[in-house]
Amino acid sequence: MGRLFAIEIIYRGIFQKTLAKNISRAIVLAAHHEGKPGISFGRYGDSPERNGIPAKNFAIVATDEITLEEGMAKYEPKEVDITIAVDDTLCKGVESWAWYGLQPVNKLLKPNGTLIVTSLEQPQALVEMSHRKETPYELAVLKGTPSFSGLWVYKDDHTDVRILGAIARFLPDLFSLQSVQKVILDEWKDQIKAESAARTFERISATTVSPDQGNPEVPYKFDLPKWHEMGEGIAIPSIPAGKAVEDPTTHAEGGFRPDRNPTFKKFTTRTMRPVVNFDTCIKCTLCWLHCPDSCFDVTPEGLYDANMQACCGCGVCEAVCPVKDCVTMVNEAAFHDNASQWEMWRKDKEGYEAWLQQKIKEHPQRSHGFRYRGQYEEQVPEMLEIARQG
Ligand code: SF4
Ligand code: SF4
Repeated sequence: MGRLFAIEIIYRGIFQKTLAKNISRAIVLAAHHEGKPGISFGRYGDSPERNGIPAKNFAIVATDEITLEEGMAKYEPKEVDITIAVDDTLCKGVESWAWYGLQPVNKLLKPNGTLIVTSLEQPQALVEMSHRKETPYELAVLKGTPSFSGLWVYKDDHTDVRILGAIARFLPDLFSLQSVQKVILDEWKDQIKAESAARTFERISATTVSPDQGNPEVPYKFDLPKWHEMGEGIAIPSIPAGKAVEDPTTHAEGGFRPDRNPTFKKFTTRTMRPVVNFDTCIKCTLCWLHCPDSCFDVTPEGLYDANMQACCGCGVCEAVCPVKDCVTMVNEAAFHDNASQWEMWRKDKEGYEAWLQQKIKEHPQRSHGFRYRGQYEEQVPEMLEIARQG
């Protein structure tokens, strides 16, 4: 019986689709250079992909054909040697379009396996975002801005080859740096990319995360319905039209909170969230009208509170708000809960103002991909400089 290797790449659907595919394909090709057969594939339940929704690719490699066949007899791997998260906000959890419920980013990692995350955050910040795990694991931060692009364009900022270099470092039995570099030269024909992989291989390091570290929240659990409990179809309850709901906190009359699906939340769909300045809001209703996910709860005084159960972080509300800095999209990594901003503002207006200013100031670079012509030409050199410095 030979050895089976499994690697998963967790990415944001559409925006990072090509990145994930490039990484998983190159893993298999590099292993082939060492005589190991392998296969790369996307998680069936994530297709068709949706903008920003967490999705997975897998690369499975074995030391021989029989072991590979045996490994592939499973629908998808139950445990992996390495988990790669190409966007650091995925550390908060993975909630796929097919809806498995919120799953910890490190759920499939074998004991002492390695989680590689692309991020400008410190390791401790990523540990705090990630759910606790019963067994220790290694966390390695690939320093860089999470690489986002669109469906038809690819942002060639070396994230792909740097991750391959990191895999060679943390799982040397899978393949060597030399095999990675051969694939880079065969596929991309780019010596500088081969050097980027080598630089990451030499410089990246990992820290051990123990079972008592991380987010103590119990991840979402559910029981699958028995066959005799299933209806003739699966229905996701829609929002009842025109149903006003009493404010659950103040029980005040007025305002409008649409009913929302009690189970499907979008906590981990977004990479940014809107921060609203209720003191400068002119109640024009544009954010409420344009939000594609009906996120805004109308408060009794006619303000608009973006509900974090529903927000996918698209940024439309920021784009349509006519008041300067009234709605600002802020990196999701800057938040530790999903509480109502309006509740915070209502209880302590001065405290809210200070909180808001601090969130806007700490506004780490974040983008949903292709926003204007020439954007990548501006961003790629910055990323390559980060890669060069290691
Ligand atoms: S970012 Fe704004 S417009 Fe987009 S889903 Fe969230 S609240 Fe709605
Ligand atoms: S778009 Fe801006 S000003 Fe208009 S209601 Fe929304 S937050 Fe207020």
